Amino acid sequence: MPMDGDSGISSDISGRPGTPENPITSGADYIESLRGRGLKVYLFGELVEEPVDHPMIRPSINAVAKTYDLANENPDLASANSSICGKKVNRFLHVTESVDDVVMQNRMQRKLGQLTGTCFQRCVGMDATNALHSVTCEIDGKHETPYHQRFKRFIGEMQESNLVIGGAMTDVKGDRSKGPAAQDDPDMFVHVVERRDDGVVIRGAKAHQTGCINSHWVVVMPTMRLTEDDRDYAIVCAVPVDDPGLTFIYGRQSCDTRSMEGGDIDQGNAQFGGQEAMIIIEDVFVPYDRIFMDGEYEFAADLVERFTAYHRRSYVCKTGLGDVIIGAAATIADYNGVPNASHIRDKLVEMTHLNETIYSSGIASSHESFETKSGNYQNNDMLANVCKHNVTRFPYELARLAQDLAGGLMVTAPSEQDLNGEVTGPLLRKYLKGRSDVSVENRLRILRLIENMTLGRNAVGYLTESMHGAGSPQAQRIQIARQSDLAYKMKLAKNLAGVTEEDDGKKIPLSPHQGRMFPDGEND
Ligand SMILES: Cc1cc2nc3c(=O)[nH]c(=O)nc-3n(C[C@H](O)[C@H](O)[C@H](O)COP(=O)(O)OP(=O)(O)OC[C@H]3O[C@@H](n4cnc5c(N)ncnc54)[C@H](O)[C@@H]3O)c2cc1C
Ligand code: SF4
Repeated sequence: MPMDGDSGISSDISGRPGTPENPITSGADYIESLRGRGLKVYLFGELVEEPVDHPMIRPSINAVAKTYDLANENPDLASANSSICGKKVNRFLHVTESVDDVVMQNRMQRKLGQLTGTCFQRCVGMDATNALHSVTCEIDGKHETPYHQRFKRFIGEMQESNLVIGGAMTDVKGDRSKGPAAQDDPDMFVHVVERRDDGVVIRGAKAHQTGCINSHWVVVMPTMRLTEDDRDYAIVCAVPVDDPGLTFIYGRQSCDTRSMEGGDIDQGNAQFGGQEAMIIIEDVFVPYDRIFMDGEYEFAADLVERFTAYHRRSYVCKTGLGDVIIGAAATIADYNGVPNASHIRDKLVEMTHLNETIYSSGIASSHESFETKSGNYQNNDMLANVCKHNVTRFPYELARLAQDLAGGLMVTAPSEQDLNGEVTGPLLRKYLKGRSDVSVENRLRILRLIENMTLGRNAVGYLTESMHGAGSPQAQRIQIARQSDLAYKMKLAKNLAGVTEEDDGKKIPLSPHQGRMFPDGEND
């Protein structure tokens, strides 16, 4: 095993914030830190000169910037004291040290969802960090590898400079019926293609990468359980986003070009948006000190399970968006003059019930966290899967109810240019009135926000990301089935019903701990 050298995370000579000497201290600093990095970002078939200034990309950058500003505005909520670097750090870079730390992640996520109405992109990195903290420790315990200390050093450096880490788990995967080593094209999953004295070379592509262009580093991880044949695919490492071997192909979103039309009404939410891109990894060299798993294929499943447990309850972020959409639905009913109609009040109650049901399973999962061997805290897997499974359904129903209350104008309203047109403007301002004391512009702004979240740009974050992000619905059903402990539940039923089975003729005894969820396979 090669010895670790320097981290290679050197000071940036460009003067940009994001170094130990000049850490990022605000949203504005963060935006500055992204400038001039020379990333290879393609959008509409062209290389983007400066992503920070691109009108389609900028709303997603603003959403991440909010995670920095919230840490200043409400440090108790969005920062934490880290024993890794011995300082207060942004909560997105914090390794949990208590149950309360895990719970606070959820509270922060809900608040950020409320403030941005979209995906603020930093939770994948946060959840990968926490999963890797315990998994690297356990790999070292079995294989005497140096991953855990390396990983902690890497995280400490991220904390000192206050950087954004993206989490790159999902491979492009090719034929879904085959594992990595069985694919016709070996590059369908990221893998090691060369080993050198000082590191490895990796190749492949990661799909749907949230906030990757807005990150400073990405942590590459395997996406599924691996077998011995997949050893070269069992690679976890950190890569700087400005590595010349990375190419980013930007994912377009519904109605995204509205941000290039001028005006701000038709965008619905002109300030904030999400971001996904595909990352092509073309023979990128990774030095050993940034490698946190290499070949220990039997730990891939643990990593995926712990990451998805964290990430599936991180989806309480969507309850913050739910708060926005409930607010928008209530506002449009008010603007239409019918806030007190009984079916409208009932629909708002239904929306609230669905939204809080998501939150309750997520926050309960966090409250049920337990300490891992490495000393950080891992949330309850069953409840996390229930939370995410709720998220694959309830936002769609919330969206349906919001569209119900919005009325058809949400999809037939003329453009902002027509609202301000010399001929059309006065006509629209007369005939699109709802309640006479509410301006037509305000009415349209709320309708466009509902459109934005249910059909437009932020429907990516509110709906389809809710469906597939952190795993499609079937992935949660598999985890729920694994942990549902049907045998124990059958025993409960048989016991109360007085069932005697032919072999012993006795009631089936129940131990006092049966049915409770324990870590490390202690569950009955
Ligand atoms: C908006 C968004 C943001 C995301 N952000 C990130 C991110 O930041 N980082 C990251 O790593 N990932 C991210 N993801 C990826 C996410 O985890 C995947 O989308 C998810 O795991 C599903 O994979 P897929 O999209 O390739 O779907 P597919 O694998 O193509 O699945 C499509 C359907 O086929 C089914 N299916 C797939 N394989 C099988 C099989 N073997 N047997 C039976 N049925 C199967 C699925 O259940 C599903 O119903 C994001 C996804 C979205 C949509
Ligand atoms: S979907 Fe939610 S949990 Fe995932 S990164 Fe976006 S805001 Fe965070």
